[in-house]
Amino acid sequence: MEATVYDVVVVGGGPAGLSAALVLGRARRRVAVVDAGAPRNAPAAHMQGFLSRDGMPPAGLLAAGRAEVAGYGVELAEDQVVGIEAGFFVRLAGGRVLKARRILVATGVRDELPEIPGVRQRWGRDLLHCPYCHGWEVRDKPIGVLGTQPGSVQHALLVRQWSDDVVFFVHTYDLTSAERVQLEARGVRVVSGEVARLVVEADRLTGVELADGRVIPRTAVFIRPGNVPQAGGLLTGLGCEVNEAGFVTVDATGRTSAFGVWAAGNVVDPRAQVITSAGAGSAAAIAINADLVQEDVERAVEDHDAAGGVFSAA
Ligand SMILES: Cc1cc2nc3c(=O)[nH]c(=O)nc-3n(C[C@H](O)[C@H](O)[C@H](O)COP(=O)(O)OP(=O)(O)OC[C@H]3O[C@@H](n4cnc5c(N)ncnc54)[C@H](O)[C@@H]3O)c2cc1C
Repeated sequence: MEATVYDVVVVGGGPAGLSAALVLGRARRRVAVVDAGAPRNAPAAHMQGFLSRDGMPPAGLLAAGRAEVAGYGVELAEDQVVGIEAGFFVRLAGGRVLKARRILVATGVRDELPEIPGVRQRWGRDLLHCPYCHGWEVRDKPIGVLGTQPGSVQHALLVRQWSDDVVFFVHTYDLTSAERVQLEARGVRVVSGEVARLVVEADRLTGVELADGRVIPRTAVFIRPGNVPQAGGLLTGLGCEVNEAGFVTVDATGRTSAFGVWAAGNVVDPRAQVITSAGAGSAAAIAINADLVQEDVERAVEDHDAAGGVFSAA
């Protein structure tokens, strides 16, 4: 028996992948979505800033999305893609191999957090990264920002928009005098010294403890994590070009430099929110369908010519 040829295999069933699958399913394309089931915002109880879905649990959005795409005949596979060979042959950890005409990679991004006690446990709860996702919920509260990597000071200056009580913990950051002036001018208190741990009481963050034993009371701490594309090797393995930050380069529709391969959402842009990731998936789907239509027309003309080029009279 011949293997099913999917028009599109979507790798990753987060907001970007499911949004693409919805558009492609409605365009009557044969689509499979393979999802490993670990979306980036899973630790958060609520998803903010998505018009008409503000405050919805992240899992609720995905459950609704899966039901919608299934209604248009999209196949959903709970599995992990472990390789994609030219052609395209998509290998799943469970042993299946799917054949596809086009590929959309929407595998998201991995957040790299510093090894400070408490950081992993509080991630997405009161150890936060995105003020647009969580700033409103901690407005006017005592907030901390951890200095870890380039961009940490900008992060503190941004977070200041949500509270008058912001402390910048220098930690391992190499603070310049110009940055210190900026922080002080904006009323951000600078606390020197390495951070030893986040203090947690009754399942709530209550402070930041420094290596010298001082504890600075805080209700939330922001951090700018490092970002690495998830399963980025699938894209580079197909020959897609990447930028200096290691993210694949795409055009406005998410088309990569490799024939037939698109990428959308956080795997391309770690700053993309849920709504913009979903929008990128939708834009990619429309471009992929257009590309398939073009190929369908070329094949039809070849078949038509091979058959002697006889037009059937209307
Ligand atoms: C703690 C936290 C809170 C956040 N809160 C908000 C918020 O309130 N509002 C907001 O707009 N944004 C929020 N974000 C950002 C949001 O998570 C992203 O914008 C969004 O998840 C990006 O969608 P995506 O589809 O690109 O990736 P993801 O949602 O991460 O989905 C990618 C999917 O691909 C799967 N996958 C990865 N590799 C493979 C593979 N090899 N094979 C098969 N599947 C694979 C993953 O398991 C995952 O299910 C938050 C982020 C974090 C970390």
